[in-house]
Amino acid sequence: MTYYNLESGDMIGIVGGGQLGKMMAQSAQKMGFKVAILDPDENCPAQFVAHEFINADYSNEKALNQLGNISKVVTYEFENIDAQQLETLSNKYNIPQGSETVALLQDRLTEKQTLESAHVNIVPFLEVKQSQDLDEAIETIGFPFIIKTRFGGYDGKGQLVIRSNDDLDEARELIADTPCVVEKYLPLYKEVSITATRDIYDQTVYFPLQENEHRDQILYKTIVPARLDFEEQAINEVEKIMSKVHFIGIFTVEFFVTDDYKLFVNEIAPRPHNSGHYSIEACDYSQFDTHILAVAGWHLPEKINLLQPAIMMNLLGQDVSNLKHEFYKHPDWHVHIYGKKINKVNRKMGHITKLSTDLDKDEQQFNQTFEGRN
Ligand code: ADP
Ligand code: MG
Repeated sequence: MTYYNLESGDMIGIVGGGQLGKMMAQSAQKMGFKVAILDPDENCPAQFVAHEFINADYSNEKALNQLGNISKVVTYEFENIDAQQLETLSNKYNIPQGSETVALLQDRLTEKQTLESAHVNIVPFLEVKQSQDLDEAIETIGFPFIIKTRFGGYDGKGQLVIRSNDDLDEARELIADTPCVVEKYLPLYKEVSITATRDIYDQTVYFPLQENEHRDQILYKTIVPARLDFEEQAINEVEKIMSKVHFIGIFTVEFFVTDDYKLFVNEIAPRPHNSGHYSIEACDYSQFDTHILAVAGWHLPEKINLLQPAIMMNLLGQDVSNLKHEFYKHPDWHVHIYGKKINKVNRKMGHITKLSTDLDKDEQQFNQTFEGRN
């Protein structure tokens, strides 16, 4: 693959115009790049911070070519882009991330098989194609287990926790609909993640270990630095993964920490990640900055510095409704609102980052502030 170094004023094309595309665009513009967004939603947040907006389906070949033609480099904000189309495009345009990584990671089965071949610690899993396969899952994995669709899931969508025979009908319905994987449902003590960026000069930088709390399978808060001593072990696992997967740009590896203090790799996101949003205020480079540097063919800094510990709280639809009259009172909250037209329960509408001198105290306060949100 030929890589290019962009100059300021060059156009960066982004497939996807959600909040991740928007924040990517804002970083790019800070450095003097222009931005073109492709998104099927005419109200998507990123178009308002873009120089060009192509309002078309992700699978619209003409539109993808239009994006490629006007851009010096093309990147994406989400991994569910059609890998086949991305491959065709990457033969014509400069797409440093390529298409193989997306193809591998957008399917939970090949993702898990790749992790297995990298010899990282993962949760026991099984492919399930038909309802008979559930018998094998009950026998080899046992209750409780979680069933996940192979494709297209996010924020816990396309997942069911199966605790006993009573839940099996639901699982059968899901399998009849789409191919799935089953994995052991673990008792979690905490979740953590590591965000990393690799440039075209083979340099990788790591953000600090992120401590994540999920509620209803959606990220609720991130605390940095994580109050668990797993950073070295997590980076070690990421390095093993990098020996099997080719990354350029930003990616995040999610981990589970079980009650017995063992670290398991959960999944990989080859794009900016919700648990990295704190980096906008709390680090000297944000995850969006490092991604743009990498895809633009610029050098990455040797190290990312955490300027201050931080808490990031997600603002779901119900949180914005409850708290919007509070925002103006709290300059220390660093409020981000993505600008989505429709506010829905459990939809990610924004986030708050608070730089902290006392994480435990601020965490408690945020828990109280967000209480009764559901
Ligand atoms: P996605 O983030 O793509 O929706 P994940 O596989 O990361 O899918 O699952 C979302 C959340 O559901 C996880 O962060 C975790 O809180 C919970 N979860 C997923 N798999 C398991 C598991 N095997 N055991 C316990 N909790 C799980
Ligand atoms: Mg996840």
